[in-house]
Amino acid sequence: MQTQILGLLTPLMALLFAVTFAVFWWAGRMQRHVLGFAIGYALFAAGFLATHFLPADAFYLFHTTQAFYSLGMIVYLVSLCERAGQRVHLGSLIGVYAISAAVLAIAVSLTQDVGPRLIIVNTGYGVMCAMGFSTLLASRRREVIDVAIIVVVAVQAMDFLIRPNLTLMFEKEILAAAYRDSVYYSLIGLVLGVKSVASAMVLIGATIIEWTTALRQKSERDAVTGLHNRGSFERSMRELLSRAQTEGRPLSLVVVDIDHFKQVNDIWGHQSGDQVISGLGELIRKRVRRYDVAGRIGGEEFCIAVWDCEDEPATQLSERVRKAFARLEHSSLSNDIRLTASFGVAEAREGESYEQLFARADEALYRAKARGRNRVENAEAPSDGQPRPLPVPMIQDLKRAAAD
Ligand code: GH3
Ligand code: MG
Ligand code: MG
Repeated sequence: MQTQILGLLTPLMALLFAVTFAVFWWAGRMQRHVLGFAIGYALFAAGFLATHFLPADAFYLFHTTQAFYSLGMIVYLVSLCERAGQRVHLGSLIGVYAISAAVLAIAVSLTQDVGPRLIIVNTGYGVMCAMGFSTLLASRRREVIDVAIIVVVAVQAMDFLIRPNLTLMFEKEILAAAYRDSVYYSLIGLVLGVKSVASAMVLIGATIIEWTTALRQKSERDAVTGLHNRGSFERSMRELLSRAQTEGRPLSLVVVDIDHFKQVNDIWGHQSGDQVISGLGELIRKRVRRYDVAGRIGGEEFCIAVWDCEDEPATQLSERVRKAFARLEHSSLSNDIRLTASFGVAEAREGESYEQLFARADEALYRAKARGRNRVENAEAPSDGQPRPLPVPMIQDLKRAAAD
């Protein structure tokens, strides 16, 4: 009775982990590798239960548990590698299972001693873990939690490859019918239980980190454009500003505002306006570098922090965005309508605060508006004030186009 209860402890724990990962995946709308962990643990639980409940001397006992464990191992390793942005070779994993299943069948037909069976199946799991380990090593993700996962997989590989041989050295022959009374069987229950708890704890830790990171990123993002929202942009900008001042690097701020946007809302509605905002957001996102920070700071106003960049190249970047936006088609508006935006650029001065820098960039933007819109103004180099000819069709055509 005691053995029965103890034997049930490991599968019950594995089932509990399966449910935990399934809840994480479902409630947190997490990526599919978390669902993979749930499926992997459910299959391990099925394997444990099969070992425990199937007739001890049944010829299919080892085949059944091997099928569940191998499938669980494959799902588990594929999910771990997917989490790390890597692809483990699925065909090779299945190949390892097929070979060890075939060799197991030969062993079962030749002897009633479970020793060879244990070595065959565990070697198969060990080789699979070793393949997962080498795939994970190729990943560039190296946070503490990623290293912990790699260590877990390495320990699993070593355990599967070494433990059966070591244990069987002390217990020469175990007949299938007496397997559950063997020292090996009690030991394996303990080892698998400890291993499954330890690896599940590491994976639960990794999943919680992923969940909270996703939540934080979501709270920092603007829903329409996917860029930083105002609060997050300002925080990042202040950090960049203090870093630029410490490291003596240039930092420029670009402020962007869509021209005559109120009319877009008035004529085509707020939703169409949102699509225009999303279009400009995407255009900005594609043009800024990885270490720049772009945010939507108001209705149709955007900011770009251009890292390690003086005002001249930042002005050129703004010109590229301006031209691209003036060419952009808007599916939510009439076909021939093109919109424009105005830009103010300022490079941070020594000791300047974010508020002061923003005020100068905003002043340059105001000048761009006053000088005819659809233009870029640099805070340091006020231009001659000659308004440029506006491209056609322009906002004065909006109402006409809407009426057509
Ligand atoms: P200007 O060329 O001087 O910038 O003219 P404008 O009409 O664009 O003027 P302003 O920048 O003051 O107008 C901003 C308008 O943007 C006001 C509001 O109707 C609209 N707006 C603000 N937030 C949103 C939003 O989230 N979605 C949409 N569709 N419109 C917004
Ligand atoms: Mg505005
Ligand atoms: Mg505007």
